[in-house]
Amino acid sequence: MAEMENERTKHIDHANTPRADLHLHTTYSDGVLSPDALVHRVRAAGLSVVSITDHDNVGAIEEAIEAGKSVGVEIVPGVELSVALNEKDIHLLAYFFDYTNQKLRDYLAFFRYERLKRAERIVQKLNDINISLKMDAVLDQAGIGSVGRPHIASALLEEGLIGTYHEAFMKYIGVGAPAYEKKYQLSPLEATQLIAQAGGLTFLAHPGKYTTELELSTLIQAGVDGIEVVHPSHNETRQEFYRGVVHQYFLLECGGSDFHGGRKNDDQVLGAYTVPLQVVEDMRTRLFS
Ligand code: AMP
Ligand code: ZN
Ligand code: FE
Ligand code: FE
Repeated sequence: MAEMENERTKHIDHANTPRADLHLHTTYSDGVLSPDALVHRVRAAGLSVVSITDHDNVGAIEEAIEAGKSVGVEIVPGVELSVALNEKDIHLLAYFFDYTNQKLRDYLAFFRYERLKRAERIVQKLNDINISLKMDAVLDQAGIGSVGRPHIASALLEEGLIGTYHEAFMKYIGVGAPAYEKKYQLSPLEATQLIAQAGGLTFLAHPGKYTTELELSTLIQAGVDGIEVVHPSHNETRQEFYRGVVHQYFLLECGGSDFHGGRKNDDQVLGAYTVPLQVVEDMRTRLFS
């Protein structure tokens, strides 16, 4: 009974306190919604501060800031980068950098070009095993966004070449599958330096998906400023574990829903994976004091 009361109180607090979601995707990468549409959705979900963290792309930020002004949502500049650590694909989230920084923009443009070449290699590999996907179908899915495997999965589904979105990864384009191809990736140190020279902070994204403790410590040594604690792939136990690591190493935390606008059947995550605004204040304090 007492527990039920607690749950209810927690729920009410949660609904009334301003919250932030620092992990969102738009049409500038593999999300389905435009920055404007996404900002309206997050407003409707009751969020006050958000960061759009498109893969290798900062194109959504200005549009989102404009939309945010009209509906009263604050936008923190963000991006999601991929780095390689011992052959593993690790995702990093970056915040509060100068998104007009030319060196950063040049690198992002290069990563997007490399993504396009990699998508072509994946399509070729699919064709080699008699999966008749055309590159145009992938480009239709990607539109203006950084091309990624989610677009290839959606194209395979659209063309009726697979039965479900996840089947694409299991049978064809996941790690170890016959049409898998690596992306061009920086090292963790190169990535944290690229973000630092643009004035931002770097976080390890959703470590629960793949990161061992040794990898965690290597990443911290490479200059990662914090860890994404709240994410749909982390249960309560994992959240507590990563929060402990954050405190132990004087790091920062971040968190969010990783919402892709429904592409990954993720409609229910928006508003359900949030952090208090203090998390954003702690980032500001680390940067500007
Ligand atoms: P890319 O950056 O092109 O390598 O695509 C990576 C994205 O593909 C990740 O952010 C996930 O959204 C998605 N992804 C990777 N592996 C899987 C999987 N096994 N099942 C579903 N989605 C996946
Ligand atoms: Zn994504
Ligand atoms: Fe990610
Ligand atoms: Fe993401």
